[in-house]
Amino acid sequence: MKTYIVGNWKLNFTVGEASIYLHKLQKKIPNYRDVEVVVAPNALALQSLSLQIDRHKMKLSAQNAFHRDYGAYTGEISFAELRGLVDYCIIGHSERRYIFGEDDKMIQKKVAAAVRNRITPILCVGETESERAFGETADVIRDQIMGGLRDVSEEDLDKVIIAYEPVWAISSTKAAKLASPDDVAEVVKKIREILKDTYGEKATEKMPILFGGSVNPSNAGAYLTVPGVNGLLIGGASLILSEFTDIIEIAKRVRA
Ligand code: PEP
Repeated sequence: MKTYIVGNWKLNFTVGEASIYLHKLQKKIPNYRDVEVVVAPNALALQSLSLQIDRHKMKLSAQNAFHRDYGAYTGEISFAELRGLVDYCIIGHSERRYIFGEDDKMIQKKVAAAVRNRITPILCVGETESERAFGETADVIRDQIMGGLRDVSEEDLDKVIIAYEPVWAISSTKAAKLASPDDVAEVVKKIREILKDTYGEKATEKMPILFGGSVNPSNAGAYLTVPGVNGLLIGGASLILSEFTDIIEIAKRVRA
């Protein structure tokens, strides 16, 4: 399985800035066959970056989309419209869940719409600090996974990526803390158990699981060597070219 390094730029970079960043990134990294580099700019930049991107070196992801293909949905962008522009879409990021009120039902429809439109969903799951304190992590993760994947058929499971992002470890969360590799290992093991119990070993062994939460060049290697982790979803550090390229290099070294 490949190692995935996904940069979530969130609401940063104008279209021009995104284009300059992409240009520099493409110049800096070679084509690593076993490391899949993905960048997720804001929606406005997707069209122009899709023409600029060297798909041998990296891929584009959307940060969100709407599950209906077309119709009276003012302000939305559909997976159908993104088809051909992006290979991936982040779905159910905690900022979508907690700032924009997306629930598991909506996320379930988005995951299905992504798969239907041949866009790989990166389904984000993760507990809040209080859920963790109350010992609810496993239940929260189970609900988010089962909810998110409800409309995905077994043969389409290999078209889904899960990203474990504990909300309390995301750098934009107030008083964010670092997750230890042991914390990550425990939950990733749980995620694999949930998947196995529901879909069986064969159907789920190929599903990549990423970790995200304040990843930077000094902790990336430790997270990438956690058993069962197949890559990283990176927010803040992906905005700094030198940090993002360092993390890509680390992923390459860990693979070697
Ligand atoms: C994220 O928002 O997906 C994320 C992981 O952010 P950061 O790396 O900044 O914690």
